[in-house]
Amino acid sequence: MKAAVFHGPRDIRIEKVPDPRIQDPTDAIVRITHTAICRSDLWFYRGQQEYEKGWRTGHEPMGVVEEVGSEVHRVKPGDRVLTPFAISDNTCEFCLKGLQTSCVQGDFWGQEVDGAQGEAVRAPFADGTLVRIPEKAEGDEKLLVALFPLTDVMGTGHHAAVCAGVGKGVTCVVIGDGAVGLCAVLAARRLGAERIIAIGHHEDRLEKAGVFGATDLISSREENAAAEVVEMTKGGANHVLECVGAASSMDTAIQVARPGGAIGYVGVPHGVAEKGLDIMEMFFKNLTLRGGPAPVRAYMTELMDDVLSGRLDPSPVFDMTVDLDGVPGGYAAMDKREALKVLIKVGK
Ligand SMILES: [Zn+2]
Repeated sequence: MKAAVFHGPRDIRIEKVPDPRIQDPTDAIVRITHTAICRSDLWFYRGQQEYEKGWRTGHEPMGVVEEVGSEVHRVKPGDRVLTPFAISDNTCEFCLKGLQTSCVQGDFWGQEVDGAQGEAVRAPFADGTLVRIPEKAEGDEKLLVALFPLTDVMGTGHHAAVCAGVGKGVTCVVIGDGAVGLCAVLAARRLGAERIIAIGHHEDRLEKAGVFGATDLISSREENAAAEVVEMTKGGANHVLECVGAASSMDTAIQVARPGGAIGYVGVPHGVAEKGLDIMEMFFKNLTLRGGPAPVRAYMTELMDDVLSGRLDPSPVFDMTVDLDGVPGGYAAMDKREALKVLIKVGK
């Protein structure tokens, strides 16, 4: 079969690789129909994260079960499934408390595990990892594309909102206008936030945040963006969703948080440890900092219900679609910021 393979910075190639096969009785083979390129894939693409030549890429798989091992009971061949970016058994202490990203037997797609940017994957712990898509979505490509972001970005945006304690009638600030930030706006609106202030770098993406439900759009290019938000909220917001992970955006999150407020942070930290957090300001403002890699598996059923009923549609985060052979071009487009998020249609 064909799959994307990393050869070095800015060198992703589509190559023939061995077909995946059942290795453990808890495995399933999933033929990929939809996958994507994630903003976080750009770290290794740009050589800013160690990645070995020959490793597979992609961590957002959606597809159809082709084969299952003897100990798989919850999915069967022919089932259409969503797969979180984290592999989990769904039986250990952490899975049972809804923190599947800390699963004791868990793993992540890509690297030495099969990457989602290919024609198929071997899915370990299929009963835990795979989530069935109801048959009513069959044949409805628009609905399938709307469900697909539940593998990563929609669940991650939702996690930011949950960690920041967003609820009915609140005012919140979303930092970041990438796919996760946009999904965080959707999540905050879905949870009932009344005022959603989106802070971002790019005018066109901020406009999309407005379409998704942000009530106020603030350009982070303005030097006093944080001060402006503090002023418009008369002292800061109780709920801040940090969706970037850069040191500057963490600083902004702390600055715009109201005393006693909570910051939900879901962007993979880059440069934050080196620069440090303003712990004194956090201390004197009694701020809560909560977040991490989103356990999207825990949120999948509830979010899927809303997508299936038409109440939630994160599909506009995609602004470019390619096939498997178009993956290297998709990376290049995201690297040059010509695309926000690339959808990869692999099969049916
Ligand atoms: Zn587990």
